[in-house]
Amino acid sequence: GGRIDFRGVRFSYDDDREILHGIDFTVRPGNTVAVVGPSGAGKSTLSRLLFRFYDVSGGAIEIDGQDLREVTQSSLRQAIGIVPQDTVLFNDTIGYNIAYGNPAVETASVERAADLAHIGAFVRALPNGLDTMVGERGLKLSGGEKQRVAIARTILKNPAILLFDEATSALDTQTEREIQANLREVSRGRTTLVIAHRLSTVVEADEILVLEAGRIVERGRHAELLASG
Ligand code: ADP
Ligand code: ADP
Repeated sequence: GGRIDFRGVRFSYDDDREILHGIDFTVRPGNTVAVVGPSGAGKSTLSRLLFRFYDVSGGAIEIDGQDLREVTQSSLRQAIGIVPQDTVLFNDTIGYNIAYGNPAVETASVERAADLAHIGAFVRALPNGLDTMVGERGLKLSGGEKQRVAIARTILKNPAILLFDEATSALDTQTEREIQANLREVSRGRTTLVIAHRLSTVVEADEILVLEAGRIVERGRHAELLASG
């Protein structure tokens, strides 16, 4: 499962200004769709609607054919795993950070999640493995490595949908490169929605939607958008 349908989605935070003016797209199970566009286009608003921080003002969002308004909060939280851009880790062990929210989980499952997030080998090479403190002297996790820890935490929940939130662009080039690699490795075979500021972050998406001022103004694969843009 994990199909997402936006059908004519309209949204206003208040009565006098509409932010999204009729958004239509589908993410099929196993595919990656990216939404890119400049600041203020409505990307964060769109992800807030998917996570149901707000309800749509018009149209509908469906997950596996079910209207989001009929999905319970707990099954929505189970269905969608968010991978934040700026991961803030707890001052605790790497294992704790991965298992957070799943306290009863077995070590083998934590290790498997770490492997799926492509941080398993890195962690195993540390003298204390999963028991290494995140803030330990001599251990400096890069932005991309921190994100892998967050990805492992999300994968452990086994959500049908991964939501990569890269809406802000305050990333250095190295971190952006790492995040792009994370996305490539983790999104394969999973239903993934990426919210990104820049087209260059989402080169391999099955479909890229260019959002401007609350409308999808272009859609296609990366090469097609470059050719037309
Ligand atoms: P993006 O993520 O693409 O930068 P946003 O979804 O954050 O765009 O913002 C889209 C528009 O909605 C902007 O004009 C912004 O000012 C407005 N907006 C965002 N959040 C709120 C809010 N909580 N209340 C009212 N307007 C908002
Ligand atoms: P760079 O990474 O070199 O800064 P990007 O390719 O990421 O450039 O594009 C920068 C901005 O321009 C992004 O906000 C992106 O959405 C927009 N953009 C780039 N190409 C197109 C295009 N063909 N159509 C519409 N918008 C585009």
